[in-house]
Amino acid sequence: MTALLKSIRREIEATGPISVSDFMTQCLCHPKYGYYMTRDPFGVAGDFTTAPEISQCFGELLGLWAAITWQQMGSPSSLILAELGPGRGTLMSDVLRATKAVPGFHDALNIHLVEISPTLKEKQKATLAGTGLDVFWHDSFSDIPDGPAIFFANEFFDALPIRQFEKGEKGWGERFVDIDPDGAGLRFVLQKDEAATALMSPTLKEKGGAGLFEISPLSQTIAYALGERVKTFGGAVLVIDYGYAIPEFGETLQALKDHQFDPVLAHPGEADITAHVDFETLMRSFADGGACVFGPLGQGMFLERLGIAQRMQVLLQNANEAQRQSLMAAHKRLVSNEGMGDLFKVVCALHPDQPTPAAFEV
Ligand code: SAH
Repeated sequence: MTALLKSIRREIEATGPISVSDFMTQCLCHPKYGYYMTRDPFGVAGDFTTAPEISQCFGELLGLWAAITWQQMGSPSSLILAELGPGRGTLMSDVLRATKAVPGFHDALNIHLVEISPTLKEKQKATLAGTGLDVFWHDSFSDIPDGPAIFFANEFFDALPIRQFEKGEKGWGERFVDIDPDGAGLRFVLQKDEAATALMSPTLKEKGGAGLFEISPLSQTIAYALGERVKTFGGAVLVIDYGYAIPEFGETLQALKDHQFDPVLAHPGEADITAHVDFETLMRSFADGGACVFGPLGQGMFLERLGIAQRMQVLLQNANEAQRQSLMAAHKRLVSNEGMGDLFKVVCALHPDQPTPAAFEV
């Protein structure tokens, strides 16, 4: 039994079942036992691998995108370059290395990272130590100072908590996590909530089905606030994540442990827990906040339009045979439809007066 499982069972015994959202928050962010709080989960030895960990090209091309966006903003002399959930700091490090030669860009930059995990903050500090730029850390994005800003969020929104609603025999209810009476574990229960359908996205309402549906209130709140911020101070938000372009019924909550799917309730705090991002709702929240929104564009198409093939060619020229194989495999994984190319999507929220961002032209 994991330490967090013990703690959650004690809490349920004392105060009753907890929502899926509360369960997910505790699994990822519990100050003592939360998955991200205690470990570096990335890479071969970890539980999952993200795009910046697969190839340096990913961050380099995002750097190019940021530099172009900065120029489209009129090259302001001060720019906040921020990242939400920076993991090991690899993406930001590649972004900064690739943009060193862009005249005036680094002089304008203030780097702000939003990270809740003390372990990952330390890792980010080490990764970014050699950049020569000041880096500021925040627990919440609302603590980032005012001013024009470009935000990156790669695999951040999928880690934000969701609520699940389902139509059972007795009508609509919200899924909660309860103690399993038949063992030492946990189980899902449905708590009656007749008003649940009010929370359904307009698209699902129109589809008229009655399966399980998920919402991520925190994602919507953050996207709305980012949209407002971009409209007020100028700048852009680039979101890359996995999920669906149009909301669907069905469960997407999943746990990953040692690169394998794991039952969601089995190892609280010891497996990564995420849910598919509902891009339609996320984009609506950005737009409600006042931003102009572009996408979703498949990650494959996005990287191809920014020139991943050409960048790979340059890297291949200086590589030995083993490196060539690994570069080609990384390229394929990032852009192909069997890999991340289609499931992962890119969305940009932009100040309404700015021209179409790079890679989003039709
Ligand atoms: N962007 C990185 C890491 C993705 S994993 C990459 O692509 O490799 C999710 C990241 O978000 C981790 O750094 C995690 O600690 C952080 N995180 C999760 N929930 C968060 C929250 N509520 N606020 C701030 N950071 C959070």
